[in-house]
Amino acid sequence: MSDIFSGLDKLGLNTNKYKLFEEEKNKQSSKVETITKKSVKDVLYDRKVMCPVCGEHIITKTVRSGKVKLISIDTDLRPKYDILTPYIYDVILCNKCGYAALNRFFRKITDTQASWIKKQISASYKGRKYPDEYTYSHAIERYKLALLNAVIKRVKASEKAYICLKIAWLYRTHTEYLLKENNSNQDIIKSNKESEIAFIEKAYKGFIVAYEAETFPVCGMEEITVMYLIGDLARRLGRNDEAMQWVSRVIVSKAANERLKERARHVKDLIKGKT
Ligand SMILES: [Zn+2]
Repeated sequence: MSDIFSGLDKLGLNTNKYKLFEEEKNKQSSKVETITKKSVKDVLYDRKVMCPVCGEHIITKTVRSGKVKLISIDTDLRPKYDILTPYIYDVILCNKCGYAALNRFFRKITDTQASWIKKQISASYKGRKYPDEYTYSHAIERYKLALLNAVIKRVKASEKAYICLKIAWLYRTHTEYLLKENNSNQDIIKSNKESEIAFIEKAYKGFIVAYEAETFPVCGMEEITVMYLIGDLARRLGRNDEAMQWVSRVIVSKAANERLKERARHVKDLIKGKT
């Protein structure tokens, strides 16, 4: 279980004791490839936010809306963009105290949660500098730190599942980048694929817990969307029978719009090997 936080030891954090979904029932310093091109500088800007844990003013990189173009959406809802992947910059990190969270959850923290972060992260956290443009390794490290913070904050399963899903997307995007660049480093590609599946599995488990226990919408998604997503994640894990049940429910649901039903039909075809 500690593998999912691999790489955070460099930041002074001992992650062996943390379990991702403990409250419910139930290696990544690869060679650094720059994700970005020169034009990326025009897309990013600096935004100032205050850390809700320690009060530090943080300068965080933000992607200008409307500057990147959506090319396509994968079956697990991963959006693909042209010049850069905006969610690479979605984790806000306070380098002073080690508090990190996705942008949408950054301010959502109680005094009690902040005290847990101070004790379990800040006390041993060693900050590091990140360049203006993050590599995939940087992005994944920041997401893992956000995931560890989420575990310590004891947030809902959906929030942790959502972070895991986005980490899986980052591994996949990195792999695609390497293949596009004709990078022959098979070790990194293999390791990325394994990590992607490992995080897909965490996301799948977490969204099932969320589906059973939480009030929707969660992470900006309605219940029917999460049902669809669980179906595709199950398919990616080779659990075809389960996947078929989830997407079949979406296809006949009155809550699903035609677009989502179309996606569900596509996933059903993938399971049957039709496409
Ligand atoms: Zn802070």
